[in-house]
Amino acid sequence: MSTSENQAPANFIRQIINTDLKNKKNNGKVATRFPPEPNGYLHIGHAKSICLNFGTAIEYNGTCNLRFDDTNPEKESVEYMESIKKDVKWLGFEWNELRHASDYFEQLYQYAVQLIEQGQAYVDSLSAEEIRAYRGTLTEPGKESPDRNRPITENLDLFQRMRAGEFADGQYVLRAKIDMASPNINMRDPAIYRIRRVHHQRTGDAWCIYPMYDYTHCISDAIEGITHSLCTLEFEDHRPLYDWVLDQLQTPYHPQQIEFARLQLEYTIVSKRKLNQLVTEKHVTGWDDPRMPTLAGLRRAGFTPKAIRDFCERIGITKQNSWIEMGVLEYCIREDLNENALRAMAVLQPLRVVFDNYPDDQVEQLEVSNHPQKPELGKRQVPFSKVILIERDDFAEVPPPKYKRLIEGGEVRLRGAYVIKCNSVIKDDAGNIIELRCSIDPDTLGKNPEGRKVKGVIHWVSEQHSKPAEIRLYNRLFKVANPDNEDNFLDAINPGSLEVLSDCRVEASLADAQAENRYQFERTGYFCLDAIDSVGGKLVFNRTVTLRDSFEKD
Ligand code: ATP
Ligand code: MG
Repeated sequence: MSTSENQAPANFIRQIINTDLKNKKNNGKVATRFPPEPNGYLHIGHAKSICLNFGTAIEYNGTCNLRFDDTNPEKESVEYMESIKKDVKWLGFEWNELRHASDYFEQLYQYAVQLIEQGQAYVDSLSAEEIRAYRGTLTEPGKESPDRNRPITENLDLFQRMRAGEFADGQYVLRAKIDMASPNINMRDPAIYRIRRVHHQRTGDAWCIYPMYDYTHCISDAIEGITHSLCTLEFEDHRPLYDWVLDQLQTPYHPQQIEFARLQLEYTIVSKRKLNQLVTEKHVTGWDDPRMPTLAGLRRAGFTPKAIRDFCERIGITKQNSWIEMGVLEYCIREDLNENALRAMAVLQPLRVVFDNYPDDQVEQLEVSNHPQKPELGKRQVPFSKVILIERDDFAEVPPPKYKRLIEGGEVRLRGAYVIKCNSVIKDDAGNIIELRCSIDPDTLGKNPEGRKVKGVIHWVSEQHSKPAEIRLYNRLFKVANPDNEDNFLDAINPGSLEVLSDCRVEASLADAQAENRYQFERTGYFCLDAIDSVGGKLVFNRTVTLRDSFEKD
């Protein structure tokens, strides 16, 4: 018996599987697959499907295949296949077998011949527009093609010649012969093969006819012995066709298609076609732009596989389409990073602070803990010296009410260091503040000052030891919750989705940061070293997420 019945939250798919196991269906086996079309990078919606398919297999001690549904060669590429494999592994899953729908092209062809022989498929010479016109509507039945009753021998001959390349693209299609009056339009003699002369990334020019999705998918599932074929709700109306094909062919297995709701996430887009448009029209820098909801983008932004898996678990599996707030995903990543990211200090907009009572050449190595709640993560040495840099807005000439940070004549504590006092403000001719003259209280290292309370704590770096860095502050890519509802989703792009700060300074220990290392920069947010642009000693950090929800009060 699986552990799922006791531990995992109930969902309707688990219930179906539990019942199947009880009834000894499929000999007690559970086999799933994740079947992406390699026509783009995977996005967060795919993560839901990946976690469901691979997660189900793990839970029931079954298997999950990764299958490329590669029947549309004009839109597919090896680059996409490689990225998909990388992303599935990164999320933490291993496939049982790597398969391709194109592995089955010969079998699919032979099954189509069988349908023709059984009088259940015919070669049609109607054009695509004519087929559409003949299809009818939701309220009117379709019209039969004049070719519908073409003799079997003629169909066999024509189909064989379609394969042999005797006809032009679009001249003929092979259609299943089902029911032109069916209330379900998918059952009105759907096309199952079309002629298309395109080079295929795996089969080269071996084929000039390609099978259609609905026909390919069910047979591929059957060939692989998939028991539960989990797909999104828009395929519910295709299920009768899925079952029809397998029933006519009497395949050794007849998998069960089960539909669940797609992930729809606010302030973003989960459609490869539209994400592709963002890339090709250069609204973003690529599929891995940290603003993209792709797994490559989320990874580059600093998201962890754990946070994404946690997110998929939290949103659950249902049959109702609903919108998930971005806050849920942000909550999951904050939880993980709060627990696991090392703390570090970075000053985004530096202001110079000089200590008049500190020796010119002195440097002290202060021990600062890497994580306040996790002493096991150790301490690091942070150099302190006569000139430091603090955040520009941690000083106020005219402080707003309840301001706890530095003001002229006031005191503040430096994180992990001394309490300091601001004695005077130096300005340039234009009246801009360029430097603060301060003093340290030498008796406040690791202890409270005598006789007074200092409330504010600010972060800092030593000017001479700190490293220059570029810090990219990413915000939501769209300014409305549902960009898909706009006439043109591109109009909803948030013009402030990226703010680049190029004069930042980070503490010296970050010079050794490795790609995708994640940090909490004290008081400013969670960041990760950019894996692509941090080259030749240049440090670039991406903001993964702010410290807390911007709707919450500071
Ligand atoms: P897109 O419109 O982005 O291309 P798709 O459904 O066409 O999505 P596929 O490559 O065919 O993309 O998807 C592979 C699997 O991932 C399918 O089983 C599909 O149902 C599932 N999937 C795709 N998008 C989502 C989503 N938003 N939520 C849950 N599952 C999804
Ligand atoms: Mg698709």
